Amino acid sequence: MIRIEKLQKLYGKVKAVDSIDLAVHPGELFAFLGPNGAGKTTTIRILTGLTRIGSGQARIGGHDIVESPREAKRQCGLVPQHINLDNELSVRENLEIHGRLFGMNTQARGQKIEELLSYVELLDRVDSLVKQLSGGLKRRLMIARALMHEPKVLFLDEPTVGLDPAIRRRIWSLIKRVQQDGTTIFLTTHYIEEAEFLAARVAFLDTGKIVALNTPQALMASLGEWAVDRMNGEGMETTYFATRDQASEYAASQDCGVTLRRVNLEDAFLHLTGKKVLS
Ligand code: ATP
Repeated sequence: MIRIEKLQKLYGKVKAVDSIDLAVHPGELFAFLGPNGAGKTTTIRILTGLTRIGSGQARIGGHDIVESPREAKRQCGLVPQHINLDNELSVRENLEIHGRLFGMNTQARGQKIEELLSYVELLDRVDSLVKQLSGGLKRRLMIARALMHEPKVLFLDEPTVGLDPAIRRRIWSLIKRVQQDGTTIFLTTHYIEEAEFLAARVAFLDTGKIVALNTPQALMASLGEWAVDRMNGEGMETTYFATRDQASEYAASQDCGVTLRRVNLEDAFLHLTGKKVLS
């Protein structure tokens, strides 16, 4: 559904995207994970036609983004990082405008608005002004808006940033549902647990490059199943083990406080990049 070859984008001397190769399968939920400035937003902006490609190639649903930009763009729904709804308009009016931009007729728009607002559980707010909605409701409306023209791929750029844990989980359920209903999803996030929970495959992006790409399970399994955190003079040191027995034996042999826990995706990220992912 998405095929990227040697994609590159320079801003002056900064390689925002540095020769990325990637294929995302139809119906897959794929996540780009990386720290601030890794190149996540730039990649999404190029794929959705908002930023000009530097070099390389990208196809969405078989359409080259340079040779067939309109067709490629039609395949894409975008939920950008920052809320960009029209605050002074109602929920319905925000969706209306998007439908018109994509050439949907009055009947098609009306039906789709009803269907989507029911889907994202906002039907009772159809006539509310956007400025009256909470952050979580605005995020749900942005997802509905991106789905108005029935895109094949939904791009979500940090869709839960700034939301509390309960609302975040509600958005996660919605994202899963959209994927289960057949839409390919390309997600970027800072939140490791978001990628771990949602994505079939994850790419770790660092300074414009993909440094690892696999299923969350495979990335974690490359370290082992159990971890022991131990404070030494320089900070926290983590050691990984294949079995709980091995980890327990090691923990018991330490003369300082230790924590025994399961390996998580953050361990894999730290190990593969040597960086902290959270900003
Ligand atoms: P964040 O998590 O903070 O959103 P990101 O992974 O999405 O970061 P990008 O926003 O894609 O990263 O930025 C990648 C690099 O490109 C950064 O060094 C950034 O400063 C630079 N950059 C992005 N957009 C521009 C621009 N319009 N002009 C100049 N430099 C830019």
